[in-house]
Amino acid sequence: MRIDLHAHSSVSDGTEPPAEVVRRAAEAGLDVLALTDHDTVSGIAAAAAALPAGFTLVPGMELSCLHEGAGVHLLAYLFDPAHPELEAELRRIRDDRAIRARSMVERLRNAGVAVGWERVCELAGVPAGGDGPAGAAGESVIGRPHIARAIVEAGAAADVPEAFDTWIGFGRPGYVARYALDALRAVELVRAAGGVCAVAHPARGEATPDGAVPLALVEQMAEAGLGGIEADHPAHDEEEAAFWRGVAKRLELAVTGSSDDHGELTGHRLGCRETAPEEYARLIRPATGAAPITAE
Ligand code: AMP
Ligand code: MN
Ligand code: MN
Ligand code: MN
Repeated sequence: MRIDLHAHSSVSDGTEPPAEVVRRAAEAGLDVLALTDHDTVSGIAAAAAALPAGFTLVPGMELSCLHEGAGVHLLAYLFDPAHPELEAELRRIRDDRAIRARSMVERLRNAGVAVGWERVCELAGVPAGGDGPAGAAGESVIGRPHIARAIVEAGAAADVPEAFDTWIGFGRPGYVARYALDALRAVELVRAAGGVCAVAHPARGEATPDGAVPLALVEQMAEAGLGGIEADHPAHDEEEAAFWRGVAKRLELAVTGSSDDHGELTGHRLGCRETAPEEYARLIRPATGAAPITAE
């Protein structure tokens, strides 16, 4: 059984619709895929409708959290998406993403980068008009990769990574912070909604909103109910992966591995990292908010 527990579709910052992500996952030889768009489950229904026979979809999402200046991405699985407090927080996060994207575009324009708000919204698949935050009318999520693509189109960076390095990474001229849940509260909230979670790509190094997750914080998250650590991730070298596997073992957490595929943006890498079946079983065992979906 081949399992990939982290992938994005065009409802957040991936480049392909949910059905196409599922199709590619099956084509890559996977049996189980978690769709983990940023701060939304709005792609799950379309992904579920596209499942080939025998293929399993794990409903999930990736929540960008903060704790004392450190950015923490939390993979949440099998929670009840109608949990009122969680649903309200997700709404707030998505609305603030739109407000923040708009002010990032302003900052970039003031810095001489000719990015258009309409084009950013088009790339994100969100409506540009109206007085409210863009995206409020739909369920799509606007993120920095959409702005990065517009920066590349405007000729101010050669590619998306360069757009982050030069313009929109933490501390760069176009960067604007956004509302985020505290990482410990996020773990508790996902657990309260019947879900389970794993810390995504914790890396090692400096703890910034775009940086690594301190070991001490992962330990605190474990006490708050964290279920796993994504040790195997394309951004981790073998030493980092081995370090986090060791931490997971010591804290008695599941070890996960995943591609974090964003479609074209990351070169279609579904299945390039995997989660072992016994680790998957261990991770999802406590979940009560939803169940994996297998097509007959
Ligand atoms: P946001 O959630 O809007 O803050 O944007 C963060 C997303 O940008 C991440 O989920 C990645 O998909 C992408 N990202 C972050 N840093 C980089 C980078 N240095 N190069 C390319 N993509 C990045
Ligand atoms: Mn992303
Ligand atoms: Mn992430
Ligand atoms: Mn991701």
